[in-house]
Amino acid sequence: MRDVLAPESSRWAAVVATFAEHARRAGFGLALTPLIEHLEVFERVGDSTDIVRKEMYDFTDKGGRRVAVRPEITAGLMRAFAEHRPPTPWKAWTVGPNFRYEQPQSGRYRQHHQLDAEIVGTSDPDADVEVIALFDGFQRRLGLRQRTLKLNSLGDLAERPVYVDALRAYFTAHAADLSEQSRQTLSMNPLRVFDSKRPEDAPVLEEAPVVLDYLSPDAAAHFDRVRSGLDALGIDYVLDPRLVRGLDYYTRTTFEFASHALGSAQNALGGGGRYDGLVEQLGGPAGTPGVGFGAGVERILLACDAEGVLPAEAATADVFVVDTAGGQDALVLSAELRDAGIAADRAYDGRSMKAQMKAADRSGAALALIVGADEVAGNEVTVRSLRGERGEQVRVPRDKVADYVREHR
Ligand code: AMP
Repeated sequence: MRDVLAPESSRWAAVVATFAEHARRAGFGLALTPLIEHLEVFERVGDSTDIVRKEMYDFTDKGGRRVAVRPEITAGLMRAFAEHRPPTPWKAWTVGPNFRYEQPQSGRYRQHHQLDAEIVGTSDPDADVEVIALFDGFQRRLGLRQRTLKLNSLGDLAERPVYVDALRAYFTAHAADLSEQSRQTLSMNPLRVFDSKRPEDAPVLEEAPVVLDYLSPDAAAHFDRVRSGLDALGIDYVLDPRLVRGLDYYTRTTFEFASHALGSAQNALGGGGRYDGLVEQLGGPAGTPGVGFGAGVERILLACDAEGVLPAEAATADVFVVDTAGGQDALVLSAELRDAGIAADRAYDGRSMKAQMKAADRSGAALALIVGADEVAGNEVTVRSLRGERGEQVRVPRDKVADYVREHR
């Protein structure tokens, strides 16, 4: 788990603001749900997945309830949907931390943060396309270029058993070539064998039956519409029939954006898909469809580093108030300027003029506003430029300072 301090945190603010703006433009409202949910919220959605079986921070609270700190965001949002039944289509976005007891490594942390957008209550394939387009446009705005959209369809839950049986038969026939862990996974859920990143499993996974050959006519038509929608928006993608995503609730469309600027092990910037059975599993109306994605903030920032975009920016004040009169001018003038929309910083502890001017230089402010005994007597402020024509200074009447700063900052 990591600490994020300024100026690095300025990039977080920029990423979240960019996402919020793209979500707003596409009609999504911000939804905030608790970090802690009843354990069963997560167990219902992924009891054969590593995320839920092995990686959850779960515990018994002081009231004896079995709860977990969320390992993923969608389940809590769907629990909230089921509870509040907002009008549909419900378009919600959110941002926040997830907790997974994983093996930490570069790009993989025990607390990571996701940006997330979901559309609940419509099966329209345009909704799938729109969430992908939101994710794509957001990345484009950040300046990320070296990325690929991987696309697949998992079909409907009704036809899933036929495919899973074919997969089980295939993996069982090749069990000797699978890792011990994948043999165990196979006995629980053959689909989850695709989650394996172990090199010894790769050749077997490569030849496995592909889900696209098992789609019902409805699911195939839906997938065609999603593909033609992406084409209509000029969003390139590659088909990846092994993209099953790490949670059990996906149906039909699944997708993931991978960065080629990152090493191949942790190159997923985010992904998601359709989950037409999830809302019902969490107590919502039967048959409520949904589609959405989660994007990893830390991964996106690593990709930005690798592509040399979105540098951290130190916050700089517009002005720095230097008070040598020793009264309350620094306090009052700073407050007045801040109220007038000007970023004003100052020194504390009644330091010497020299020390305060040094602090003013370090602050990156364009102007120092100096208040000494003379200025107080004349109800004025000395404005000294800290950039360009250094040292140039003028006296400005106190009630004109904000206007002067606006013109000269
Ligand atoms: P998931 O919820 O597993 O589909 O993950 C969605 C995205 O969150 C991934 O594509 C990553 O970008 C990011 N992510 C998932 N797990 C971690 C982690 N442990 N550390 C950092 N980022 C993660």
